[in-house]
Amino acid sequence: MTGALLHWIDGAAVPSADGTTRVGTDPATGGRGAEVTLGTAADVDRAARAARAAAHGWRHLASAERGRLLAAIGRRLLAETDTLAAAESADTGKPLALSRAEIQGAAEYFEFYAALVNLPAGDVLDIRPDLHVYTLREPLGVVGVITPWNLPLNQAARACAPALAAGNTVVAKPAESTSRTTVALARIAGEAGLPPGVFNVVLGRGPEVGTAIVRHPLVRKVAFTGSVPVGQEIGRIAADRVLPLTLELGGKSANIVFADADLEFAATEAVRAFTTNAGQVCSSGTRLFVERTIHKEFTAAVVAATRRLRPGQEVGPMITRGQWETVQQYFKIAEQEGATAETGGRVPDEPGLAGGFFVEPTVYSGVTNDMRIAREEVFGPVLVVIPFDTEDEAVALANDSEFGLAGGVFTADISRAVRVAEALEAGQVYINSWSTQSVQMPFGGHKNSGYGREKGIEALHHYTHVKSISIRLTGR
Ligand code: NDP
Repeated sequence: MTGALLHWIDGAAVPSADGTTRVGTDPATGGRGAEVTLGTAADVDRAARAARAAAHGWRHLASAERGRLLAAIGRRLLAETDTLAAAESADTGKPLALSRAEIQGAAEYFEFYAALVNLPAGDVLDIRPDLHVYTLREPLGVVGVITPWNLPLNQAARACAPALAAGNTVVAKPAESTSRTTVALARIAGEAGLPPGVFNVVLGRGPEVGTAIVRHPLVRKVAFTGSVPVGQEIGRIAADRVLPLTLELGGKSANIVFADADLEFAATEAVRAFTTNAGQVCSSGTRLFVERTIHKEFTAAVVAATRRLRPGQEVGPMITRGQWETVQQYFKIAEQEGATAETGGRVPDEPGLAGGFFVEPTVYSGVTNDMRIAREEVFGPVLVVIPFDTEDEAVALANDSEFGLAGGVFTADISRAVRVAEALEAGQVYINSWSTQSVQMPFGGHKNSGYGREKGIEALHHYTHVKSISIRLTGR
């Protein structure tokens, strides 16, 4: 087990209680990946106890000092961008430039929430002269953070930075296939001066380690990013424990293009919307609704731009073999449903990509909104294009989905843009540019896309509860 990636518990790298490890797979070649420690409930227990023991000291640290420590983590992440990006690309196969951008985004979470520690922690309520009443936002205690494989460090930072800023301590579990950078984050946090036990990482599989985190009595909140079925399973356990959750689940986001839009730019954005990170993004724009009068020419522009993206160059592999097989399964489903692959719909046959989990970026036409290829989240670079005739029809089609994460609208008519944006059942809507992402913008879903919000001040509040305190005053 020499060289295996270890847990980070109570300020130190430690092996599993039972010493088990597993060797992963390099998604770009199908060869050997990282060797990772596989934890059990015993390791989660160790981590939760360490987090609980550290909670009092961390919560009562002067907020300026807590902010300084979080800002120092951000600076160290930036300073180590090259090595962290290399590790992220080794685990995920994604292009180095994308990994670098994600690491810089991870640093931004720490910078942003470091500043927010100075926000007022409550309000004073003017009720009666003989009462002084105030509210106090308090940390929840130990927070569990369970993250997936698509943006590993970035998503860990997205949840951990506000949780820590609010004064909680953390037990994090990255996806087993992409653990390296979350462990690196724990090491960096320690080097930045975070006290032992404040930030812990337990490695291993979801059904063992993830479930043990949700079940652990010392864990007082869980932030989960991942699939709908696992989110539901966590929700069932949480219901028994009356445990607050943030659930950031899947999406099948709609992008609506009207004939009066800047069509050249809209086509570029429509392609970026479904191919970024090889489509392995919860907020990918994977349903494209196009006004019928421009449907043919716009689809042709999207197809032409998609063909310019080469697997292995601009588009990385599916991060896991399972996901690669899932996408190929959807190619079959689309074919059986009678959709037409305008481009893609298969795995590339270039010899240089053999063994890697690559698929061709794919655009389907001849699709209706009731087909599985239009309703289910593929989590790969797969787009369906569907024509519409009226604004009302476009909104109805977009909202006819079990998901409600993101949405886009492209039009020169600003009134229509606002009408459509406000009518879409989605947590975030982008007008005339796909996916304006910022740490300041709250992010989360409607319907099966989950609940609660990541990012912004809203996320910070999700990691606190409000206490009302009233003091009887005499002598007035
Ligand atoms: P999962 O939901 O299975 O995994 C997400 C995280 O949860 C991982 O850390 C995983 O651990 C963990 N986990 C798995 N099972 C449990 C459990 N029973 N209890 C607690 N934690 C658990 O997603 P997948 O990785 O399998 O991806 C499948 C689908 O999920 C994708 O096709 C996509 O639709 C969706 N997805 C959505 C994402 C988003 O950003 N919203 C991100 C990733 C996936 P481990 O992997 O180590 O077993």
